[in-house]
Amino acid sequence: MEKHTDVICPFCGTLCDDIEVHVEKGRVMEALNACKLGNAKFMSMNKKHRHLVPMVREGDGFVETTIEDAVERVARMLLDAKRPLLYGWATTECEAQSVGIELAEEVGGVVDSCASVCHGPSVLAIQDVGFPSVTLGEVKNRADLDIYWGSNPMHAHPRHMSRYSRYPRGYFRERGQQDRTVIVIDVRRTDTAGIADKFLQVSPGDDYELVNAFRTLLNDGDIPDEVAGVAKKDIEGALELMKTCQFGMLFFGVGLTMSPGKHRNIDNAISLVIDLNKYTKFSLMPMRGHYNVTGFSEVLTWQSGFPFGVDYTRGYPQYNPGETTSVELLSRGEVDAVFVVGSDPAANFPKKAVEHLAKIPSAVIEPHETPTTYLCDLKIPSAIAGIEVAGTAYRMDNVPIRVRKIMDPPAGLYSDREILKMILEKVREIKNGA
Ligand code: SF4
Repeated sequence: MEKHTDVICPFCGTLCDDIEVHVEKGRVMEALNACKLGNAKFMSMNKKHRHLVPMVREGDGFVETTIEDAVERVARMLLDAKRPLLYGWATTECEAQSVGIELAEEVGGVVDSCASVCHGPSVLAIQDVGFPSVTLGEVKNRADLDIYWGSNPMHAHPRHMSRYSRYPRGYFRERGQQDRTVIVIDVRRTDTAGIADKFLQVSPGDDYELVNAFRTLLNDGDIPDEVAGVAKKDIEGALELMKTCQFGMLFFGVGLTMSPGKHRNIDNAISLVIDLNKYTKFSLMPMRGHYNVTGFSEVLTWQSGFPFGVDYTRGYPQYNPGETTSVELLSRGEVDAVFVVGSDPAANFPKKAVEHLAKIPSAVIEPHETPTTYLCDLKIPSAIAGIEVAGTAYRMDNVPIRVRKIMDPPAGLYSDREILKMILEKVREIKNGA
């Protein structure tokens, strides 16, 4: 049996780096230290529903094809389309993302990631008002107050609190939990709220008003007896904890980015953190979901100047979220082919967007069967980045981490990066009249 230590978990944006994986005869036997979600990802290596050959839709079903044929079909689909959408990218490594962006530019398409349906508003707000940045290591060693707003790490990032906020001992937090206070702000009493020291239940859609209430009190104003469903005394109590802590941290999730106000909520939250820095050290961080959604924004910014929703149809990058982002493009029927890599839009996009996706030519690179693989016309299986392929991923605090290869993929499977390179070469070959 092979024992691999200090393996990175390629599931959520926490990118835990202490997993011990036991592999025997090409099967994962155990993934020690991983949470339930991470464990499921490592164990998915062994699952029967993993597809192993490219399949193309024929009639009501799929038939097997070769990788060469699949590559040519994707290349021709992208070239035949007037405005193809290349979407996903959050669950693959940066090196593959880089080739995918080059491909989007070559075919004159739109390239967008899952950020446009999760933390895109955070990115917009950061561009508006800046961002006091900090690493998770600093949070672990210094933070004595952690706030989770619109985020439920007990379910979405299960080891986040044990590694960085609620429980760990840090350099300046030697007593661990006893040295730390946790506040949860959410529309319902989540499991994370259950282990917090203070819980504020905000009325759905009223997050902006609650941020404003904190800022008003902080800047010597007054507020009514209740704001956004929270009593004034509870707002004052939470604010006192914020002002008097030594190092405060605001972690925010899609409960804040996707509730009414969207990026204005984050603008306001960043402004609150800036206000709090008049009293103490305070910072904030988005709770990024997929393990390398942060990396895609980095790579796209290096290559195009913009972090998500980039349209190359005019031959140069254009960026206008709401106009050049996937859900809107699909819902309005403004793209005529879709190529999905490392994502499952059919499972989480609005109905209208998925209906259009089902009508137009489509292809997907994906290791497992998903709702999207059932909808698409062509599915290409790939090796799993971070387990069967090494590469770079960015943790939620923008720290790049090298994810490792710990086992070989099943015979005949290529990495996302290799498949994308083959498609890019084929596109260039066809354009050159070969
Ligand atoms: S918290 Fe996230 S990165 Fe850590 S083991 Fe769980 S799923 Fe993997």
